[in-house]
Amino acid sequence: MTCSGKLVSRSDAPALSIVVPCCNEQPSLRELHGRVTAVCRRLALAPYEFLLVDDGSTDGTWPLIRELAACDPCVVGIALSRNHGHQLALTAGLSVASGARIFVLDADLQDPPELLEDMLAAMDRGADVVYGVRRHRAGETRFKRWTAAGFYRLLNRLSDVPIPVDAGDFRLMSRRVVDVLLRMPERHRFIRGMVSWVGFRQVPLPYDRAPRVAGESKYPFVKMLRFAFDGITGFSAKPLRLAIWLGFGMTALSIGLIVYSLVSWLCLGAVRGWTSLLASVSLIGGMQFIVLGLIGDYLARIYEQSKNRPLFVIRDIVSAGRGDGRGAGDETRRDAAEGSR
Ligand code: UDP
Ligand code: MG
Repeated sequence: MTCSGKLVSRSDAPALSIVVPCCNEQPSLRELHGRVTAVCRRLALAPYEFLLVDDGSTDGTWPLIRELAACDPCVVGIALSRNHGHQLALTAGLSVASGARIFVLDADLQDPPELLEDMLAAMDRGADVVYGVRRHRAGETRFKRWTAAGFYRLLNRLSDVPIPVDAGDFRLMSRRVVDVLLRMPERHRFIRGMVSWVGFRQVPLPYDRAPRVAGESKYPFVKMLRFAFDGITGFSAKPLRLAIWLGFGMTALSIGLIVYSLVSWLCLGAVRGWTSLLASVSLIGGMQFIVLGLIGDYLARIYEQSKNRPLFVIRDIVSAGRGDGRGAGDETRRDAAEGSR
């Protein structure tokens, strides 16, 4: 199914959907189910739906999800046809979720489900997104912590929208945010950045990240690097335009070199051919970079267009006649289409 497809009708939509992508998480699932159920019971959240997305696991994750679904009517099991990766598994879960609020967390319990209470309270106070910000990251190597810290800071320098530092996908989102998110059809998904792009009121909730309850991280270094690259290329076209600045720099430098070589030729009697060679090589180099930067700029425009995101998202419309405070969600496409005329 596509990411905008809906499987569940909205007429009997629950107040809360909990979405968890799972890849070979059999050892954590029972504890996850127990803790999530306890939180939902304590907060009297029923009816809620607990969506467990099996992302092509090769252990007993799917049979266990089926077992949980058979004995707990709140559990909805979704099995992907193969491993599609964390971000797509999460997107699949979001596309099936029908709740008014959507809570996303990992299966390994690194993000405590008990924080749902604080997140719901922040949303009651008017937030559309409450995202967890990692204060402490227990059980993660110093290397991972440093590279993650460096990456988020670099991403923020390059990105056109501010993306929170040290925040993962652990968050509570309102229906209208998820509706806009599902209308962003880009294939390389960096969901935490896409949520920032959507806008509305987003508030942080600092927390200490626990170690995994079982199993190993599914993000080895190379996968992490690819994910980081998706983040940068998905949210910034600046690298494509870099060449133009290099070109201007080189051209300015070459003009200085030309002056220097002319002075050398006139005053010092430089070797025949050296002046013209130096001048032409440096000038052509600068020109080439400028042209490359121009091509990069056009390419960036095509790339941005091809992502097919909504042009803008309306938060509210107010007028004496129709102060209905309609959100962005259902209006976005039409507004975007009108905006593009
Ligand atoms: N995950 C997934 N598909 C994958 C890799 C990971 O659904 O291909 C899930 C995984 O089961 C977990 C979440 O994504 O629930 C985050 O993965 P992990 O805990 O390995 O990442 P880390 O916390 O180490 O960054
Ligand atoms: Mg984890």
